[in-house]
Amino acid sequence: MALSHVSAGLDAADCGLEIKKKKDSDLIVALAGNPNVGKSTVFNALTGLHQHTGNWAGKTVTNTQGYASSGQQGYVLVDIPGCYSLHTNSAEEEAARDFICSGAADVVAVVCDAVCLERSIGLALQILELTERVVVCVNLMDEAQKKHIHIDLEGLQERLGVPVVGTAARKGTGLERFCRAIDEAAGRRDNGRKGRGYRKPEAGIAGGDGASELCSGLITYEDSGYLEPDRKKDRILTGKRTAVPIMFLFLLGTFWLTIAGANYPSELLRSFFSFLEGKLMEGLIWAGAPEPLREMLIYGIYRVVAWIVAVMLPPMAIFFPLFTIMEDSGYLPRVAFNMDKCFRKCHACGKQSLTMAMGFGCNAAGVVGCRIIDSPRERLVAIITNSFVPCNGRFPTLIAIIVMFFAGGTAGAGTSVVSALILAGFVMLGIGMTFLVSWLLSVTVLKGVPSSFVLELPPYRRPQIGRVIVRSVCDRTVFVLGRAVAAAAPAGAVLWLFANVRIGDMTILAHLAEALQPFAALLGLDGVILLAFILGMPANEIVVPVIIMAYLAQRTLVEISDNAVLKQLLTDNGWTWTTAVSTMLFSLIHWPCATTCLTIRKETGSLKWTLVSILVPAVLGCAVCMFFHFTVECISALL
Ligand code: GDP
Repeated sequence: MALSHVSAGLDAADCGLEIKKKKDSDLIVALAGNPNVGKSTVFNALTGLHQHTGNWAGKTVTNTQGYASSGQQGYVLVDIPGCYSLHTNSAEEEAARDFICSGAADVVAVVCDAVCLERSIGLALQILELTERVVVCVNLMDEAQKKHIHIDLEGLQERLGVPVVGTAARKGTGLERFCRAIDEAAGRRDNGRKGRGYRKPEAGIAGGDGASELCSGLITYEDSGYLEPDRKKDRILTGKRTAVPIMFLFLLGTFWLTIAGANYPSELLRSFFSFLEGKLMEGLIWAGAPEPLREMLIYGIYRVVAWIVAVMLPPMAIFFPLFTIMEDSGYLPRVAFNMDKCFRKCHACGKQSLTMAMGFGCNAAGVVGCRIIDSPRERLVAIITNSFVPCNGRFPTLIAIIVMFFAGGTAGAGTSVVSALILAGFVMLGIGMTFLVSWLLSVTVLKGVPSSFVLELPPYRRPQIGRVIVRSVCDRTVFVLGRAVAAAAPAGAVLWLFANVRIGDMTILAHLAEALQPFAALLGLDGVILLAFILGMPANEIVVPVIIMAYLAQRTLVEISDNAVLKQLLTDNGWTWTTAVSTMLFSLIHWPCATTCLTIRKETGSLKWTLVSILVPAVLGCAVCMFFHFTVECISALL
């Protein structure tokens, strides 16, 4: 029997709970289980969707549905957030419990970790108290085999009285059998097996005690030291003296690879787009397009979009896979563990570093990820400070300015190291700001002591490099790039109009830039740069192209095919190294983008906290820029 991936009609991950069946006979299957046992991997393998997977607890925070079919049978699978128990109080665990308890699912499939079965089976016992239509999917069988752990699946099935299937979802092993077991649990299939039937435990003993009693004699550890290799790695990666330098080296290494690797493809793309620009213009002239339309299309929309693709695509295509590898290997929660002390000192929650890590990809995702933090006070602190982590929309801006002004314009191996160091410095500044603001909030408007929490350190797993690259490029890079282009194209058109429509003897752009000039000058910027940040609210990635367009509109047009020309354009418009630093500082610390603001509004349900989340970084960004600007002014006046 072949499993087919049918996702038509349900092609996008649906985060609501409105179940969409295709046929009446479709079975609704809830994928429950502890965090990090492979629920999303099972979900993806069966539905063909690309739900985020990662080797750490807390990355799935909402319910997602997808469609799978096996033979004639259809299944609506619902990937629910991981939980350890049904007695819970964190937001994402509540979402899981509510779905299981609602009775909406025909079958609840409890995905368990074969490497630590006892812990996973506790939840299965609790669910069995609610419903007998349960399938137990013992996943990660390949990992267990590698660690020489043997599980008597038949015995477990006997004891539980419900179908038990062993799977290795990453390889797709056992999934057909899993589908058959779902049919069986739903009462569609009877294989003649008469289990003893699960005996409900006395009230209150379900979970830990019941689980160890149930598993006794079913698990054989051939190698009792199977945890030792992970412990050894932990002694280095989370050790007192080694943890921080290693974290910094990882950060630096990631940035270095991103900058050094992105430079050449970036140059190639820019030359290509510049060549294409000439051809497109010729084509438009040939087609008889009027001059204003031609210029708006090419110098407005095309140039902004071309810049974004050329400058953003290469670093993202390198950074995302590197980050995903770190995530998949299990290093990310170790970072949270290492940072916990600092967060505690700021009266915040150590899990905040996980939400910051998500913010590196996208601040809106980071804000949603804050659901893993139980205490509402600490969740708010994490939400308000998330935009201090530069998202991928701001990374390329930072990289481009660093390469132009501080790394000699071209990136050899040496200059890449300098660029990576500067970028790491800016990111550390963002992290420092996060600590400072978290502390300030925790001793003022969001007063409170840090709550205790359990942070799970998952086993180290070898990431699937090939899959990581394909998925990061296809899912994340293309998604982010698409969003950037969607925001950039209309912004390019609007900007072109601003730059060409005159009111009096000046263009609208000149009027706006002039109006902003006095305030921008206090920040060490100019009116055009500040305007670019305001117009860049829909997507941060368009800030630099808007600046370029605005300058280009005021003088003869130049090619933007290489960094030296671009730097010349900026310096002709009064940029010095201090303007570059101020622009980078403001890029790091200013208001969150529109998508993030909307997400904050949704997550907090409060306009007041959304405004606070906008004002705190905006005011702080202005203060930092002013401080830098006046310090430099004072020093140069003294010299
Ligand atoms: P969830 O939190 O339960 O949804 O877990 P994920 O689906 O995100 O998986 C957690 C980690 O385990 C990821 O790094 C997966 O690549 C990995 N994983 C999932 N299933 C398997 C499997 O069968 N074998 C191995 N070796 N790794 C797996």
